[in-house]
Amino acid sequence: MGHNFAMSKAVVSSLYDSEVFRMACRQFDQAADAINLPDTLRDRTKYPRRCLAVSLPIRRDDGSVTVFEGYRVQHNLSTGPSKGGVRFHEKVTLGEVAALSMWMSWKCSLVGLPYGGAKGGVIVNPRELSPTELEHLARRYMQELVGFVGPQLDIPAPDLGTNEQIMAWMMDTYSSHVGHITPAVVTGKPIALGGSQGRREATGVGVAYLVRKYLEDLSLPIEKATVAIQGFGNVGGEAALALTSMGARVVAISDYTGALYNAAGIDVKKALAYVQYAGVLKDFDGADPITNEELLELECTVLVPAALERVIHQDNAARLKCRVLAEAANGPTTNEADRILEARGDIEVIPDVLCNSGGVIVSYFEWLQNLQSYYWDKGEVLAKLTVMLDRAKDAVEYQKRKFKFSRRLAALTLGIERVAEAKQKRGLFP
Ligand code: GLU
Repeated sequence: MGHNFAMSKAVVSSLYDSEVFRMACRQFDQAADAINLPDTLRDRTKYPRRCLAVSLPIRRDDGSVTVFEGYRVQHNLSTGPSKGGVRFHEKVTLGEVAALSMWMSWKCSLVGLPYGGAKGGVIVNPRELSPTELEHLARRYMQELVGFVGPQLDIPAPDLGTNEQIMAWMMDTYSSHVGHITPAVVTGKPIALGGSQGRREATGVGVAYLVRKYLEDLSLPIEKATVAIQGFGNVGGEAALALTSMGARVVAISDYTGALYNAAGIDVKKALAYVQYAGVLKDFDGADPITNEELLELECTVLVPAALERVIHQDNAARLKCRVLAEAANGPTTNEADRILEARGDIEVIPDVLCNSGGVIVSYFEWLQNLQSYYWDKGEVLAKLTVMLDRAKDAVEYQKRKFKFSRRLAALTLGIERVAEAKQKRGLFP
């Protein structure tokens, strides 16, 4: 396929085909049309460069063996090593990982990082594994990836269902293989192993920082803002903390066990302490149960989807009652929902590639610190983070005004344009 140009235009990936991959492709097509991206550059900018699918046999605590399936998709390596998290979730598919790798490319490019995009995933519910089994799985996954990843090749990081400890095991496994400690092969590590100050908070803090900025643009004081957050993992939890410390009132939070609402404001620290102890939000007594659908449709100033893709879709987009939609998750809004929100015109969308970019920005700082073996304090990290977020936000607002684009289209066109330009300047190979 693809030897003749007319055919190559019609290429639809059989490997990655899925709802979420098609969604990412439609976003790309729309952006490519909007900037008149030459046909010769389209498909090679759009489709992932390569992927690895791996079988991961691990010994269970009871002596049996289970084989898990994992993936790593490298979308683009034209502007530097590829970068992106690894997701441990029972619903992971290759198509989802591919879509997430595309969004990493646009995100890194938009905020000016010298990285292409990548993403990894393992089909597993990590809650069903003991800590030992989880360690076996993390190590086995990295062992299969040695040769496909590296500080100058592809740098994994945490995502849904993975954390600092898992990054530590991966870094250790890689280092054992190459024969010397190589902290720069993954980011999001524990501080003791070369992790960066501020990395754990970075995505949530970045979300909160941008929310405050956009509320300022709307002349809405953050002290009067109410916030509903879907997802109370690392990103949702840290965003809740940061927004509370800025004076906002978090009225709803949720995890996979259900959603909670308290009009007077949820005590976020107490909820985080409860989750630390109970593992889930279920039965937390500081708020009343509501459904996940009710949370998304709550009347609030800011709605923060901080979990999975495609939670705002054609059936609920018309019913959202927020003023600002801050996309802490990747791909939370479907193409149909985007159209509905645009037609409504009353909700400011902070698109994922901008909104949650604080995570990968501080991952970049972590990688830089590792390469130089010279470490920064938290103040320095956070100050540098806000400089990069401000720059990206300003660029998006300029692009939005100049071409009368939606904010998502502005962000995507900036990200895509830079990747396409690098490909065009380098030639056909990268
Ligand atoms: N998984 C995060 C994201 O989706 C962070 C990636 C990274 O730090 O490399 O942006």
